Amino acid sequence: MKTIQHWINGAFTPAGSTRTAPVWNPATGEQQAEVLLAERDGVDAAVTAAAKAFESWGDSSLTARSRVMFRLRELLVEHEDELARLICAEHGKVVDDARGEIVRGREVVEFACGITSALKGDYSDQVSSDVDSFSYRQPLGVVAGITPFNFPIMVPLWMHPIAIACGNTFVLKPSERDPSASNLVAQLYADAGLPDGVFNVVHGDRTAVDGLLDSSGVEAVSFVGSTPIARYVHERARDTGKRVQALGGAKNHAVVLPDADLDFAATQLTAAAYGSAGQRCMAISAAVAVGGAGDALVSTLEDKAKAIRVGPGQDPATEMGPVITAQARDRVASYVASGAEQGAEVVVDGRGRTVEGHEGGFFVGPSLIDHVEPGMGVYDDEVFGPLLSVLRCEDIDEAIALINANPYGNGTAVFTGDGEAARRFHRGVRVGMVGVNVPIPVPMAHYSFGGWKDSLFGEKHIHGPEGVDFYTRAKVITSRWPRANRLADGALHFPTAQ
Ligand code: NAD
Repeated sequence: MKTIQHWINGAFTPAGSTRTAPVWNPATGEQQAEVLLAERDGVDAAVTAAAKAFESWGDSSLTARSRVMFRLRELLVEHEDELARLICAEHGKVVDDARGEIVRGREVVEFACGITSALKGDYSDQVSSDVDSFSYRQPLGVVAGITPFNFPIMVPLWMHPIAIACGNTFVLKPSERDPSASNLVAQLYADAGLPDGVFNVVHGDRTAVDGLLDSSGVEAVSFVGSTPIARYVHERARDTGKRVQALGGAKNHAVVLPDADLDFAATQLTAAAYGSAGQRCMAISAAVAVGGAGDALVSTLEDKAKAIRVGPGQDPATEMGPVITAQARDRVASYVASGAEQGAEVVVDGRGRTVEGHEGGFFVGPSLIDHVEPGMGVYDDEVFGPLLSVLRCEDIDEAIALINANPYGNGTAVFTGDGEAARRFHRGVRVGMVGVNVPIPVPMAHYSFGGWKDSLFGEKHIHGPEGVDFYTRAKVITSRWPRANRLADGALHFPTAQ
């Protein structure tokens, strides 16, 4: 059995860990490896290595840092196939979908290549006689990232390229369910010339997370995962004086207005609901049919859901792979059951789906449930699987009110050909990322990603300009180099411009 180790100070190490967790192959249901789970001293070893590395990395030139990012970008291109297959093997998503997350993550590295521009400060000449002011931003020190299973490469890449390009050193605690991609990225960083200790990977569970949250050596924490853990991480990191951004779960609504092209909308919704087996924080899990759109929309969605090819992610013919664990599969099935019990109509039932030759795999087929309403578990909870609920609203204002009453506020989308309605929608919804005829409006890397309400705790969104702000502190310098014959009189009153 392969044992997946930590990466600390430029080398693989057990760091004293003895506990392990299984790493499954979701397509077969078999255990393929075990991953070490760090204790506090393993976390401390990584933080100590990162603190030591910060002494020189924090002072390195912007050019040196951006050159590492340029090399990392090329290595991510060269190793795309290997990475995609690794993600597929541990996560279960289809290989092309894994390539998609590598590309989107690589775009953050491309943004970090331009850190020389992103970190330009301001300068004001002659703010007072012989006095100039300027500002710049400095790195924080050791920063940590804690990431979920569903994007084992993209979500960590939202964090560490920007943190490192800003001059910080990094400790990543990836999901213990699909840990290998992070170790490969660590090796790529080393090949790109990143000094030892700047990027470290500590595998683990709650013990490792708490070790990072409580460590006095960690200045800031970026977290992405479910809402209860995001809330916990935010509170605990804040209590120990850290800067923290904690992104949580979601219930993303797509509103289909009566004038929308129904086939286009249904095709987009099908991809957004069932792609990656619904295990995306920006997956559409609630379709809202407005006015008369409902029955025709449901019938088109039904045809498309039934046509999805479910199978192992390695098979190029597969469109939807398994979910991450047997528990996740059973959880999805339980929501189909509870939806039916609470009065919704199960139009497509994904329960009990098996795949020939992969009978032990964690498969569940696409499910479509109509006439869902708030108050039903299938709507109120984040299911995080291939299950699309359909709700009905009279008009766009009722749809906006429905979205705004939901505690989550990650992503949403509207399908329409009416510009005024689209504008009313994106201005009216209390949601962080909004699509107009775009079902998964994940911002490009030069914007920042983040939801509102229970989908994000903390002030700063992730990556892009807000990422640069999050990983740096501003400093303003007021500087005087007077000529000897113009020295001020040294009066004790509060200084004002002269
Ligand atoms: P999770 O919350 O179970 O785990 C996330 C991380 O927290 C992992 O590293 C895990 O080891 C750690 N963790 C788990 N339980 C913990 C505990 N009790 N104490 C401390 N740490 C703990 O999430 P997941 O199941 O890996 O990922 C799916 C969730 O992530 C979904 O809710 C999804 O919406 C969310 N997500 C959100 C975004 C976003 O951008 N908002 C992006 C991706 C995923």
